[in-house]
Formats: sequence, structure tokens, C-alpha cells
Amino acid sequence: MLAWGAIGSNMLSTYAHLTVDDADRELMQFYGVVPEEELNQADNTMSPQQCKHCGMLNPRSNQFCGGCASALSAETVATMADLQKEIDLDSQLLQRITQMVLEAQNIPQS
Ligand SMILES: [Zn+2]
Repeated sequence: MLAWGAIGSNMLSTYAHLTVDDADRELMQFYGVVPEEELNQADNTMSPQQCKHCGMLNPRSNQFCGGCASALSAETVATMADLQKEIDLDSQLLQRITQMVLEAQNIPQS
């Protein structure tokens, strides 16, 4: 307290609310160390995702289950619903897509 001058000085009110955690965080940022909370979040994004239909664990990057081909996220379900709507609106769209895929794979059509 003596180093900061009088008790009523602005210096005390500026720094008195800081905790040891605040100081630790500043030091870790200064030395480029990732805080533990951020590491836990990173682990969460890398952890496998479980299929709600068959229970199989899939890599986080997968959109569809490797076991039962179900969509793994609500976003993928919505995208599939949008595609289904487009296919329903254009009856020949699915036929054209199938033809394009077969041509890309060089598979002769029956
Ligand atoms: Zn599945």
C-alpha cells in the first residue's frame, strides 16, 4: 500500500479488483501459452460425434454416419431437406445429377 501512495489514490482503485487469475492470464498470453479452458474447448471440437440413430462414433468432420448414413447434424438434415425440395420441384433434376455422377465415374449406364 505504501508504494501506491495514499489509500485514496486512483492507482489503488484501478488495480484493486484484479485477481491472481487475471495476472496469470496476462502472463500466459504474453508467453503464448493457451489457457486450460481453451484447450478443453479445442478437445471438444476434435472429439468424435456419436450418431443418434445407431450410436456409432464418427470423426467430427463427417456430415453423415459411416455406419448407417444418417445425417449427423441438424445443419446437414436441413441441407438434405432443401435438396429434397429442389428434387421434388424438378422431376428431372435427380436424373441429371445421377447421369453427371455416372459420367464423372466413367460407369457405363444400363
Ligand atoms: Zn449411424
